[in-house]
Amino acid sequence: MPSLGWVFVGAVLGFGRILHASPINERDHFSAADTITVDVCIVGGGATGTYSAVRLSQDLGKSVVVVEKEDILGGHTNTYVDPVTKAPIDYGVQAFHNLSVVTNFFARFNVPLTPVPLTTPFTTEYVDLTTGKVVAGYSPPDPTTALEAFAAQALKYPYLASGYNLPNPVPADLLLPFGDFITKYGIQDAVPTIFTFGHGVGDFLAVPTLYIFQNFGLPQLESLATASYLTTAHHDNSELYQKAAVLLGSSVLYKSTLVRAERHVNGLHHITVQTPDGLKLIKAKKLLMTIPPILENLTPFELDHHEHEVFKQWQYTTYYTGVVRNGAPVNISISNTATSSPLHIPTSPFVRNFDYSGIPNLHVFSTVSDCPQTLGQVEALIMGEISLCQTEGTFPAAAGAATIEAINNHTPIQMRVPAESISEGFYADLYALQGRHGTYWTGAAWAQDDSSLLWQFTEGILPLIIKAME
Ligand SMILES: Cc1cc2nc3c(=O)[nH]c(=O)nc-3n(C[C@H](O)[C@H](O)[C@H](O)COP(=O)(O)OP(=O)(O)OC[C@H]3O[C@@H](n4cnc5c(N)ncnc54)[C@H](O)[C@@H]3O)c2cc1C
Repeated sequence: MPSLGWVFVGAVLGFGRILHASPINERDHFSAADTITVDVCIVGGGATGTYSAVRLSQDLGKSVVVVEKEDILGGHTNTYVDPVTKAPIDYGVQAFHNLSVVTNFFARFNVPLTPVPLTTPFTTEYVDLTTGKVVAGYSPPDPTTALEAFAAQALKYPYLASGYNLPNPVPADLLLPFGDFITKYGIQDAVPTIFTFGHGVGDFLAVPTLYIFQNFGLPQLESLATASYLTTAHHDNSELYQKAAVLLGSSVLYKSTLVRAERHVNGLHHITVQTPDGLKLIKAKKLLMTIPPILENLTPFELDHHEHEVFKQWQYTTYYTGVVRNGAPVNISISNTATSSPLHIPTSPFVRNFDYSGIPNLHVFSTVSDCPQTLGQVEALIMGEISLCQTEGTFPAAAGAATIEAINNHTPIQMRVPAESISEGFYADLYALQGRHGTYWTGAAWAQDDSSLLWQFTEGILPLIIKAME
């Protein structure tokens, strides 16, 4: 029991909850076989967790263990293999920037990359999915001039490409609701293009402009302008993670979650993990968190006051993607285009699109909601809108009944905070947590929600971990 004096000092410094943590007795009872001792425990085996595990273990000489709740690596990378044609369809992560951090990572696993074509052989139809009708007379405006104006604004914030190192005060334009920013700079004609990249934010016209730039900023503008986006030549982005899984072998604990994380016990973190083979104790010098740092994910921790005050502020979007068979016409992609809302932006919750996959009868869809949505609600939304389009005669009767072949929940995505929090220094407070209690952080909440840029961001975090272990 700490003395009252230490409790007071701890409370002032924000460590009150740590000092009050009840001792974990279980650790004394773990057998050697159930105890894993490593340099770094990585929580989450998605884009940044897998990348970190490979770099730390293969290049930087550190032992690692990855705790991953699913039975595969890759996070938002989803690939459906059509049982009819055996063709893979990526319905999660699609494309990467042509950066050395990307090409080196794919080359390591001998996964060939190819440029993403900027044009599609398929026709796009603009349908209001809430009415099931084609939006009469609508075609997207020529975005060229408006995109140039948008790019001129993006150039004012070069630091956004590497995260949230925002100046103080934060530039007022970054705090503007994006709808106001559009009006201020007269960039209405660029909205369909920007929405293609930024629709995941949910309430597109209301979010602070900062988050639009974090979805469609300088790196994306450059990859688009130079036609340099890359994807896997086999059109199977999961190949990267399958090969990484082979390399990492038993260093990954699948279907595993943290039960309790006690940081800094005699210089080591003691992390109790529920695995399919029972409880394990991980003893690690450092902890690298790559999962979304929302309070719900952090219940195994005794967060200190500062951590709690920062992490409680997150807002995020509910997002599902999947593949539907016989949902929309062959060779046609559907772009949800709201007839009556400003700039034709659909209102939440909405199905963003039915993109033709190139494989007969299969379309990829995504759904966006500002509020939580269950799988059942999302499936009902999709099937209801397909049915409406068929009733209205917009989609001809399909060869068979529409079926959802695959669906994945990507929630939480688009981690963000209100404009007021941004201006009050949220990101300075967030970044100040890096390394605190021997805990390091990377992943989508910490920089642009984009695998390539997050790998680059992670390259900045790994040396901090290495240095702290010297
Ligand atoms: C549908 C979709 C399409 C995208 N397309 C692209 C694209 O084309 N190009 C691009 O660059 N970026 C794309 N992104 C963004 C990109 O996927 C993210 O920026 C990137 O995956 C973030 O990496 P991460 O490591 O933070 O999270 P993730 O890749 O999501 O990894 C987090 C991992 O942690 C695991 N996990 C979560 N909670 C726990 C827990 N409590 N315990 C243990 N494990 C847990 C998850 O299962 C997951 O494997 C897309 C995102 C989505 C949702």
